[in-house]
Amino acid sequence: MTPMHVLAVASEIYPLVKTGGLADVAGALPKALKAEGIETITLVPGYPDVLSALVEADEVLGYSRFYGGAARVLRGSAAGLQLFVLDAPHLFARPGNPYVAPDGADWPDNAIRYAALGRTAAEIGQGSIAQFVPQVVHAHDWQAGLSHAFLHYSDRPRPGTIMTVHNLAYQGQFPQAMLREIGLPPESFAIDGVEYYGAIGFLKAGLQFADHITTVSPSYAVEIQQDEGGMGLGGLLRARSDVLSGIINGIDTSIWNPATDRFIASTFSVATLADRAGNKAALQRRFDLPVSPDTFLLGLVSRMSWQKGLDLVLENMPLVLSEGTQLILLGSGDSDLEAGYRTAATSHRNQIGVVIGYDENLAHLIQAGADALLVPSRFEPCGLTQLCALRYGAIPIVSRVGGLADTVIDANEMAVAGNVATGIQFWPVSSESLAGAVRRARALFHDKPVWQRMQNNGMNVDVSWRNPARQYADLYRKLARPGR
Ligand code: ADP
Repeated sequence: MTPMHVLAVASEIYPLVKTGGLADVAGALPKALKAEGIETITLVPGYPDVLSALVEADEVLGYSRFYGGAARVLRGSAAGLQLFVLDAPHLFARPGNPYVAPDGADWPDNAIRYAALGRTAAEIGQGSIAQFVPQVVHAHDWQAGLSHAFLHYSDRPRPGTIMTVHNLAYQGQFPQAMLREIGLPPESFAIDGVEYYGAIGFLKAGLQFADHITTVSPSYAVEIQQDEGGMGLGGLLRARSDVLSGIINGIDTSIWNPATDRFIASTFSVATLADRAGNKAALQRRFDLPVSPDTFLLGLVSRMSWQKGLDLVLENMPLVLSEGTQLILLGSGDSDLEAGYRTAATSHRNQIGVVIGYDENLAHLIQAGADALLVPSRFEPCGLTQLCALRYGAIPIVSRVGGLADTVIDANEMAVAGNVATGIQFWPVSSESLAGAVRRARALFHDKPVWQRMQNNGMNVDVSWRNPARQYADLYRKLARPGR
């Protein structure tokens, strides 16, 4: 049987370009889908880091003028991923963060840059590259949202379409005046088109026109249909609830494998859990904290934004730090939060260690060495760090929202008695209930047999892409339309 062809469209992809969990998904899902008989090629913008990693590249489409400059589509591979790369130097030959200029503001032409991405996706979707005619186009987040609009406003046959929301907070809204430049017809500016509160909504367009919408956890799929969680799109998502579902993300279990991890001090598995202690000691040394196996050690690995609730930890620091508890943070983002954690570390030198920055290797050591990983998000579409924590024997302490609610089993009395608990959940998302959850976790930490059973339970959970890939494959088969 010839494999089914899927075109994924993503503005970032691990390990080439990453600002968040979207990149992890875009990088890992195609590999897992191979086992399901699905061949994915991902269309990505030709950022410098993508082009320099690309090998065996062939030009498969060329334009002398495309959104203001010459452009071409290259087919090649990089880091084991099959890619179509939109090489349009006037749009993408910019180093650094893909969305933000060096002055900290969004690139002023983001609408055009990601319209070009969507336009290219629609072209490929409609069979412009004969060697790969997809039966499904799978768009990820607002940057890919216009793919489905361009497919809709074209007369040519189109493949099946999926829009995946990784984070509804990022919606891609641009002035109506750009409609022409973007290349959409005037009639598209309508409530059942791309119009969104008087502007052009890229994510809205994707949600409007996709045959099916997914988001990255069942709970988040429910939350985004409410007025608050819907962030302006709740009404549309309610109207489309019959084609909206949630599929939990996996993590790449070859990269995140405590038995083989090169970035940690001491490898370990369920069978050799005692070896985990070497990582805790290494972590305490790395952060200049007293090396003490019996001191409860909390880890935080996070983007520092309002969403992640890191301010709630700062608010109740004395309670979080009681009984000598240590806290380690790796993160970057809002300058106020960064400053808050730096100050906290200065005033609690023996208890708080902070690294401001982005450091994949250190993230591995924290997962391997912390006793518990704190994820106090105000909302969380899926969350990946708690999945890594489960696999590494760090007990996740999470707010009961979105994917956190779906992936962590709270250590309530029944769950502990039934030996199914894997972590701690708290609700509401407030500094008081967070401090209460930390207190509860600390008590369990001192009950060694229970704590170890929770670690075992977590480490035995299948957090790989196997189950999610099967669910995406089922969906693709349902939506597939013959290409061209
Ligand atoms: P989001 O996509 O909202 O940032 P997720 O939990 O879905 O949150 O994904 C975050 C990913 O980025 C995880 O793989 C996490 O380990 C990683 N990460 C976040 N901040 C850092 C950091 N400062 N250093 C290293 N890795 C980080």
